[in-house]
Amino acid sequence: MIVAERKTIPDLIEILKGHQRVLVLGCGTCVTVCLSGGQREVCIIASALRMASRLGGHPLQVDELTIERQCDNIFIEEAADAIEKVEAVLSIGCGAGVQAIAERFPNKPVYAGLDTVFLGILEERGVWGEKCASCGACVLHDFGGICPITRCAKHMLNGPCGGSREDRCEVRPDIPCAWQLIYQRLTNIGQTDRLGKINLPKDWSTSQSGGCRGFVREDHRI
Ligand code: SF4
Ligand code: SF4
Repeated sequence: MIVAERKTIPDLIEILKGHQRVLVLGCGTCVTVCLSGGQREVCIIASALRMASRLGGHPLQVDELTIERQCDNIFIEEAADAIEKVEAVLSIGCGAGVQAIAERFPNKPVYAGLDTVFLGILEERGVWGEKCASCGACVLHDFGGICPITRCAKHMLNGPCGGSREDRCEVRPDIPCAWQLIYQRLTNIGQTDRLGKINLPKDWSTSQSGGCRGFVREDHRI
C-alpha cells in the first residue's frame, strides 16, 4: 500500500492561510489502512483545524468528506458538489490523489495534507516498513522476494557491502541487513545458486530517474 503521514496542524494552518472555507477530503483506500487519511482522520483533522484557527483569531469553516479513492475520476465525481461550495480543498489522500483532484478541478486550490512516504506494508501494530521503490523493472525473483533496491541502504545487487555487524545494516543498525535476509531466504527455498549470478548495474531509466512515468495497456483502450 501507499504509506503516508499527516502533516502537523500548524503546518496545515499555514498552508490554508487566507482561506475562509475549505473541504478536508479523505480517501478510503491506502491512506485509510495506514491510518493517515481516512474518514476518522478527516474528522480529527477538521476538528483540530477549527479549534486552531479559532484560537489563532481567523476561524475557518471546515467541511468534511471522504470518498472511496481520490486517484479515480469515477469516485472524484462524488466530491464535485462539496468541492464547488468551498474555496479550497485539503486533500488527505496520497500525492497521486491530491494531483488527481487538482487536475479535475483546475480552478480550485488543492493542497496536500499528508506527506506521502513510501510503498510498504504494516509490519506490526502502528509500524509500517518500506518494501518497494517502484523501480520499474522488478528483480525480486533473483533475490528470494526481498528487494535489494529498497531494503539495502546502498542498493547492493551483488552481495553485501561488508559493513554489517551481526545481522544489522551498517547504515541503519535498527534494521536487518537486506543481504542477510536475502541469503537466509534463498537458503530456505533452496535457491542459493542464484547468488552465483553476476547482476549488471541497474538500468535506472525505468525508475523515476528517467523522468515522470506512465504506461499504456492497448488491450484496455477503447
Ligand atoms: S525490484 Fe523494483 S519493483 Fe521490485 S520490489 Fe524492488 S523497487 Fe519494487
Ligand atoms: S549492511 Fe547490508 S543492508 Fe546495509 S548497506 Fe550494507 S549490504 Fe546493504
